[in-house]
Amino acid sequence: MSWQQELQNIFKTIPELLAYLEISQDHPSIFYDSSFPIKVPRSFANRMLKGNIDCPLLKQVLPVQSELSEEGGVYDPLMEDEFIEDRGILQKFQHRLLVIASGHCAIHCRYCFRRHFPYDEHRFSTKDWTILFERLKADRSLNEVILSGGDPLTLPDNRLETIIHQLNTIDHLEIIRIHSRLPIVIPSRLTSELQSIIRKSKIPVVIVFHINHPQELDASLIKTLKDWQQVGCVFFNQAVLLKGVNDTVTVQENLWRTCFKAGIQAYYLHQFDDVKNAQHFKVNKDQGLEIITELRKRLPGFMMPSYVQEIPFAGSKVPIV
Ligand SMILES: *Cc1c(COP(=O)(O)O)cnc(C)c1O
Ligand code: SF4
Repeated sequence: MSWQQELQNIFKTIPELLAYLEISQDHPSIFYDSSFPIKVPRSFANRMLKGNIDCPLLKQVLPVQSELSEEGGVYDPLMEDEFIEDRGILQKFQHRLLVIASGHCAIHCRYCFRRHFPYDEHRFSTKDWTILFERLKADRSLNEVILSGGDPLTLPDNRLETIIHQLNTIDHLEIIRIHSRLPIVIPSRLTSELQSIIRKSKIPVVIVFHINHPQELDASLIKTLKDWQQVGCVFFNQAVLLKGVNDTVTVQENLWRTCFKAGIQAYYLHQFDDVKNAQHFKVNKDQGLEIITELRKRLPGFMMPSYVQEIPFAGSKVPIV
């Protein structure tokens, strides 16, 4: 099945997903009427444990009653609204321009800090891409563009090819970065066309994945990623520290070791961004630090992520020490 077909064929209701996982529909913790609907690709559900509502992959996507709580957290924890320049273009950091290249994701992660983001107001049109290219050309201090979202790899290959080609005409641009979870949840997204687009780019293309648990990387995905890495693709991973998903030293150790096996370099472990309706995922910083301190004893330095927090207006990620 092509990745587009897989994207069409995802689980969009809780009963379908639970039936597939052989889990009872009437578990009292399930929240059936969330306005942030579920979205789970079948290939990702394949890596979940059958019959286990505590599966760490399922926990990331299953709406639970705790989401009803309006206590704690805010709608826009990173205050991104303050950084929007033109539609879908944000400058939060020196030298780097961030683009909401697509408003869609293949999966809906319950803890997403953009779960309340007004994507509809930021849908990028051809005209907006033109504004972006002009903006990049005009400002020589911008040497990196970050394609974010939503998920930029929901764009078709021919669209990405045009975008990367156009970016290659800007001579002061040094890095094209893609932030994506799509190839992790639908591995067939790693098409040979996409690989050749990346290899053709004279400006290095860096892909930053989002993987939270070692079970997300199965043997076949590890092999594909390793193959890509061997032809020069550069991969990093950022994870979010999430209660009940990856808040133990053992899971963290396995996560970063498994990333290494797949040729993915450790980048960030994010402190949970304090978004409303997802407070049940929050791990406090003291506990996070304990995990990191223990992790440092177990992993070589090159497999260690930086434990960071995003503080609006800080100008960079802030290390938690
Ligand atoms: C932090 C951040 C980035 C990029 O920051 P780096 O420190 O350069 O990786 C991009 N997008 C979002 C949403 C971020 O929070
Ligand atoms: S894939 Fe990323 S942007 Fe999309 S819902 Fe998950 S965390 Fe949010």
